[in-house]
Amino acid sequence: MTLQQVSYEIARTLLQDEIPNNKLEEITYDTMNFDVPLVPLYLNTFVLELFHGPTLSFKDVGARFLALATSGDTGSAVGRGFFNIPGIEVILLYPKGKVSYIQEMQLTTIGNNISTLEVDGTFDDCQKLVKEAFTNSVLNKTVFLTSANSINIARLIPQSFYYFWAYKQLLDTKISVHADLVFSVPSGNFGNVTAGLIAKKMGLPVKRFIAATNSNQTFLKYFQTGIFEPKPSIKTISNAMDVGNPNNFPRITALYPDIELIRDVFWTVSISDFDTERIIKNTYADVQYILDPHTAVGLCGMNNYKASKLKSEFQNEEKTNDTVGVVLGTAHPAKFSDIISKFINHEIEIPNSLKQVLSEKKNATPIQNQFEELKTVILNKA
Ligand SMILES: *Cc1c(COP(=O)(O)O)cnc(C)c1O
Repeated sequence: MTLQQVSYEIARTLLQDEIPNNKLEEITYDTMNFDVPLVPLYLNTFVLELFHGPTLSFKDVGARFLALATSGDTGSAVGRGFFNIPGIEVILLYPKGKVSYIQEMQLTTIGNNISTLEVDGTFDDCQKLVKEAFTNSVLNKTVFLTSANSINIARLIPQSFYYFWAYKQLLDTKISVHADLVFSVPSGNFGNVTAGLIAKKMGLPVKRFIAATNSNQTFLKYFQTGIFEPKPSIKTISNAMDVGNPNNFPRITALYPDIELIRDVFWTVSISDFDTERIIKNTYADVQYILDPHTAVGLCGMNNYKASKLKSEFQNEEKTNDTVGVVLGTAHPAKFSDIISKFINHEIEIPNSLKQVLSEKKNATPIQNQFEELKTVILNKA
């Protein structure tokens, strides 16, 4: 099967009669119309490259739905997906000074039915503004609001497809059937990894998910203590994961309603910017593969996992099988070329679609981190 065929089969099985089959086939084929190759990095370690879509991050997969709040990469993917669709107004919110230059250009140069607000606050502030919009009765009487961040389950459903696609490609390489399949997922809002849990619940033989996080440690602390306590977000070089209150946490505990179940299906690490930079340098030196900062956090997580498995932190597990590790490659390194080219001391080739965006003029409306300002903007569109 092709990626599109696999995706359609999964979608049809999951959604049953929710959407007519011919429509669903059209939607899945349109969504999955770019390559998602599984690239070998080291022995039994692969990168699933999810960044060959129009805006060069995995967000392109799930982003066919109306936008409201976004971290660095969702906004541009959603903006592109909804550009010039009649009857739809898209409002993108992004945190001022907390996305990369290229991400900012991608967010602020789309135009027409896509408008962009530059919020004087953090990513968590943007999410809070959006959640407030959903529950505001005045707004909901006037406009029909829906969100495009991973609050929206329609983002997660298509993201489950590529976990199956990774497995299919592994089978093609004739990996040992006895190996344990482990995915390392660079995580912020935990939408991507929740899509993986959905794939596992559907029957994909995954041993474990590594939730690879940066210095934002809300999930790590939960994993260690059983207490979930949201914290203000900390700014890092993997900025699309600067989330102190992961949106999808309630979904994870709905799927695995016990900390011991979560400790069985997950493993988690927090990777500093220092280690992120180091692994980008080392990987380029060793195998000439260029990681973006998010995928780097994922690979670091995988390496730490394999190392601690060797040290047998998992004594309780039946005689240790080989681990086949798949790191989700969540963004193209060119999106972060300013810092990456310094780390590896080498210029990064910028794809043409990005060059185009960088030649345009930034257009964003600054707003304070105040709900009344967002409300006024939305009502003016109605
Ligand atoms: C959004 C994003 C993430 C985090 O994904 P979540 O679903 O929020 O956990 C990781 N890497 C990149 C490049 C992203 O854009």
